Amino acid sequence: MNENVLRILLVDDDEDDYIITRDLFSEIKGMKFDLQWVASYDEALEVIGQNIHDVYIFDYLLGAKTGLELLRTSINNGCRTPIILLTGQGDHELDIKAIQTGASDYLVKSEINADLLERSIRYAIERKRTEDDIYQMAYYDSLTGLPNRLLFQDRLRQVIKHSERERNTNAVLFLDVDNFKRINDTFGHTVGDNLLREVAARLEHVIRKSDAVSRQHLGNMFARLGGDEFTVLLSDIQEIEDALKVAERINTSISIPFALGNHEVFVTVSTGIAIYPADGNDCDTLLKNADSAMYHAKEQGKNNYQFYMQSMNARAFEILEMENDLRKALENNELLLYYQPQIDIIHGKVIGVEALIRWQHPEKGLVSPAEFIPVAEKNGLINPIGEWVIRTACAQIRAWHAAGMSAMPVSVNIASQQFQQQDFIQIITDSLDYSGISSADLILEITESTLMENTEAVSNKLQEVTDLGVKLSIDDFGTGYSSLNYLKRFPIHAIKIDYSFIKEVNTDPDDAAIVEAIISMANSLKLEIVAEGVETEEQLEFLRIKGCSLVQGFLFSRPLPADEIYDYCCNEENGSGTIISAICSELKSGPESVELRESSEREIHNI
Ligand code: C2E
Ligand code: MG
Ligand code: MG
Repeated sequence: MNENVLRILLVDDDEDDYIITRDLFSEIKGMKFDLQWVASYDEALEVIGQNIHDVYIFDYLLGAKTGLELLRTSINNGCRTPIILLTGQGDHELDIKAIQTGASDYLVKSEINADLLERSIRYAIERKRTEDDIYQMAYYDSLTGLPNRLLFQDRLRQVIKHSERERNTNAVLFLDVDNFKRINDTFGHTVGDNLLREVAARLEHVIRKSDAVSRQHLGNMFARLGGDEFTVLLSDIQEIEDALKVAERINTSISIPFALGNHEVFVTVSTGIAIYPADGNDCDTLLKNADSAMYHAKEQGKNNYQFYMQSMNARAFEILEMENDLRKALENNELLLYYQPQIDIIHGKVIGVEALIRWQHPEKGLVSPAEFIPVAEKNGLINPIGEWVIRTACAQIRAWHAAGMSAMPVSVNIASQQFQQQDFIQIITDSLDYSGISSADLILEITESTLMENTEAVSNKLQEVTDLGVKLSIDDFGTGYSSLNYLKRFPIHAIKIDYSFIKEVNTDPDDAAIVEAIISMANSLKLEIVAEGVETEEQLEFLRIKGCSLVQGFLFSRPLPADEIYDYCCNEENGSGTIISAICSELKSGPESVELRESSEREIHNI
């Protein structure tokens, strides 16, 4: 905004009146104006929301609404721009009402001249400046220029009110500079004051730069409560870890030494975190609990952060630790692939394997993907991890071929985020080229959520994958949105019925009905269908009767390391041949052969 030009908004539903007012403005000397005119109440509200004017002038008559209503609404919406109301002649009561509602001035329309108009605007602006000064003194800290306790509490209350409706989660961070008194005593108060200003500047930098915060708009703020205490409000956080990340960045930022005059000062802070609504649902409780968490951080040796609730500390730290370890896992080759056979029960043979990732953690041992894949999906590590999985699976197929194993497709799980990655197709083609395997040996397992993104990009990518000769199957079918639409729309080869439906298929009639429906739908759409998590012969029998002949589950084999898969598939005597035919022959011959069943169970345990 140009400082010398005053931006005025005129709201008047009568164009002739606008022209008269515009002419009056042109007569005013010594002040430059930029006059914008809007004719309707609704349009006015929209423009006022942009908050780009120095003064508003509302006519009293605005179609079905009145200028007084517009005045009231604007002020209720938090408008602090001076407003002048234009009224009819001699309407004294209305004049009083206008001032009581918060108008800076009122002008009788028929009496206005350029002088009156100019004076009214000038006074309105001067009054606003005085108000601003008072506001500044009441709500801001004079040392750092940050909001003070009053403004922080005010904003926190507003955010809580909003969150009651929207069910948002918010975090309050309470920070205290460690050993500030000693700094003050050693270097003097001027240095102490400068330090507090610098701390404020670094806080500002962290809050502005923070990813966790930048996607939010409403109500993030930080304040100096007094002394060496600061508070941060993070509104509408997605998850509690966001608060932790901010606390961590603050610690990192403060730990860089401060250059104050001739001194280099090392400073740390202790931070307490309280979460709305878990740790309190009003302003005072949240501040009190964040404060007590801060004391706890001090007791823990300072220079750290603590949540108000102990349990949260443990969980948050566990996740943070896992994130850090996972980053190293890739570099240190701690990831491995296991493979689980998929069996065709009609022909009694292995028709493929699914690659399932494992993490050989240096201290914790073998970690399940159910634990670390969700973490990797959140922090973006899923992309490099997923790429590693594709490359490793392709290389393994190559190695199996070289060792004489006949062609057998490998299914690889693809996270939704990974599929949306820009260079996803490139990664697939590179892995195929590099390993030299046929694209027919690779199947991608995607989930319903990937398809539900439903963008053109996803749909194009699915086609590109298929064009390469790589097949697609839908994993965990039935747990997502299960819109049958996409099965027709996209080039899908197979669906995998989720384990959760198979589990009680013999005892829960609902599950049985769902599984039956999925099988018959897949059959009529000519899709292959694989049942996951088959653990018992009763489940297998049910599936066979209903027309599902491809299965995967502990009944046949747990996921195995690559060399054991080789034995399972190639070594006819101790391998799958015996197990599969034992189980399958039982299917055909009925459940009478107790001896056979016992022996097959023993063999399953042996693997
Ligand atoms: P999923 O793709 O549905 O894989 C099947 C899961 O069921 C595997 O768990 C497998 O070990 C387990 N399972 C197989 N047969 C049985 C059975 O008879 N009974 C029971 N109770 N479970 C059985 P796992 O290996 O722990 O993997 C869990 C999930 O982690 C996978 O579910 C998949 O969603 C994900 N995952 C695994 N590897 C990868 C990967 O490389 N990339 C991605 N993005 N996700 C992966
Ligand atoms: Mg899978
Ligand atoms: Mg699955």
